[in-house]
Amino acid sequence: MRYSELAETCQRIGAISKRLEARAVLADLIRALSPEEIAPTLYMLQGQVRPDYEGVELGAGEALAVKAVAQAWGLPEEEVKRQAQASGDLGTTAGDLRPSSAVSEPLSVLEVYEELLRVARMSGTGSQEQKTSAIAQLLRRANPLEAQLLTRLVLGKLRLGVKEMSLIDAFAVIYGGEDFKGAKARIETAFNVTSDLGEVGVRLARGGLPALEETTVTLGKPVRAMLAEREATLAKVLERMEGTAALEYKYDGLRLQAHVGPQGSPQLFSRRLENLTEQFPEICAALPSAFRRRPVIVDGECVPFDPDTGELRPFQEISRRRGRKYDLEKMMEDVPVKLVLFDILLEGARPCLTMPYAQRRALLEELVIPGERIGLSNREVVRDVTQAETFFDRALADGCEGVVAKSVAEGSVYKPGGRGFWWIKYKREYTQELADTVDAVIVGAFHGRGKRAGWFGAFLMAVYDPVEETFPTLCKVGTGFDEASLQELTELLHQSKVTVKPECVESSLEPDVWVEPSVVLELTGAELSLSPVHFAARNRLRKDCGLALRFPRFSGRRRTEKAAEDCTTVEEIVRLYETQVRKESPEPAPDPPAP
Ligand code: ATP
Repeated sequence: MRYSELAETCQRIGAISKRLEARAVLADLIRALSPEEIAPTLYMLQGQVRPDYEGVELGAGEALAVKAVAQAWGLPEEEVKRQAQASGDLGTTAGDLRPSSAVSEPLSVLEVYEELLRVARMSGTGSQEQKTSAIAQLLRRANPLEAQLLTRLVLGKLRLGVKEMSLIDAFAVIYGGEDFKGAKARIETAFNVTSDLGEVGVRLARGGLPALEETTVTLGKPVRAMLAEREATLAKVLERMEGTAALEYKYDGLRLQAHVGPQGSPQLFSRRLENLTEQFPEICAALPSAFRRRPVIVDGECVPFDPDTGELRPFQEISRRRGRKYDLEKMMEDVPVKLVLFDILLEGARPCLTMPYAQRRALLEELVIPGERIGLSNREVVRDVTQAETFFDRALADGCEGVVAKSVAEGSVYKPGGRGFWWIKYKREYTQELADTVDAVIVGAFHGRGKRAGWFGAFLMAVYDPVEETFPTLCKVGTGFDEASLQELTELLHQSKVTVKPECVESSLEPDVWVEPSVVLELTGAELSLSPVHFAARNRLRKDCGLALRFPRFSGRRRTEKAAEDCTTVEEIVRLYETQVRKESPEPAPDPPAP
């Protein structure tokens, strides 16, 4: 396929606001691709060149992209910068500045992809110049629309709104026939196991839906993390689990999936599928000898701890370890961490996802040799509320935030990427008014005044609606921030600000600045209430009303391990509201016995 065709389709997609229409255009595009072109096109549509977990970043800085555009058309950099400032988008400027006398030479999708992949992998001295000249060369061959797309891609600012789910939907349209839902579920499962839409797309192109059955857990490819539901009381947890539950401590740290190869060589992945191998050298050093057999893929929580006492430390400490490239040695000393394992996804050639929890746990216990840096989650099988409460209290006393109850039923499999009642979390906050914290994403910001002048002082927060793929607002928050966090957020948000409200945001409020949803904050609040202003779960409980978080407050915890789409969902907000209503209006007391 010609790159110009892809550019035209992207332009069309960018102009469509209706999901179904966009899905149809994407399906047509995919149908027109050869099997070799599928994976590259899927990555590029999402602004990438490789799946997330490989960590191959294309996003070149603004300065490099300006240089490349200037070099391509032989213009002074200042001129390019000035025009980009005027248009608000370097991509548009790149297309506009292309001299009309320039002759475009046809570019193919594969050619562009391979060149961009090469650029993304360039490193070391002189790599910036090499990248600039490679991009300039591509631009020189491009027509105006291609130049626009290329520049945005290189900048990491594609903003087409093509998310994984839109692509999965498009595939379901192509391969589902009458059974769209069934096909979507199968495609989603394959994606959740491999975390690589490119691989899923290629399998589909070669063998249709049946080819997905061969998708399996693979060393080096992170499985999307299984998530937990919530319940209001431990009694309800036990009820859900038919009287018996395996309770585990809920450790407060960073979810990590460890892949340990046959010869050792571990790889670590975050819940967002980032490769964090380099960031935790002490965990990597301990992993190979922590198992009686290899290879294995295990799931756990990485927590800060005090090596002298063995006690857990507050979760905030571990955030200092994330994203670190330098001073690793010092960080290892300042913030010692250990990995507490609670699940196993692969052992040898045997995938474990479909084994029931009890069997997976037994296997994990058989394999792990606990040591200072690698441990097993504390766990107890409980059969009544008193037992459960005692275990919960012990978890809190030991520095955990609560417990995760796991079903010991036969059907209790590991569901990648799924939030279900096989796992139920129960936290300390549940005993307070609002049954849990909410992870909401910033969609807009308000300028600060007085002491906060020069920074943003409040933020418009939204939750996620995975069905509509939108971010409806939940509240405006300005409490709970210290100067350092406001400064940090202001700097961060300046990178993702946009001139108009992003298509995916639903809001009736108009902040001073709109931003692309990406920064997730943990909020506490007094309660959820019906609101005509906010859009979360709008029209679900009452016409023209959504749910709003009252008296919201930043807990101090930025959820860096969560992407915008991982924040609290509309469904969860509705359930939290229902839990709160249930608490407010207890079951009517039974009638007193007749005298
Ligand atoms: P929260 O904000 O409550 O931590 P979350 O949205 O991060 O929730 P959930 O799936 O709702 O994630 O809760 C489960 C999380 O708890 C897991 O993602 C994991 O990081 C953490 N966790 C800690 N200990 C355990 C455990 N023993 N079993 C499973 N998950 C655990």
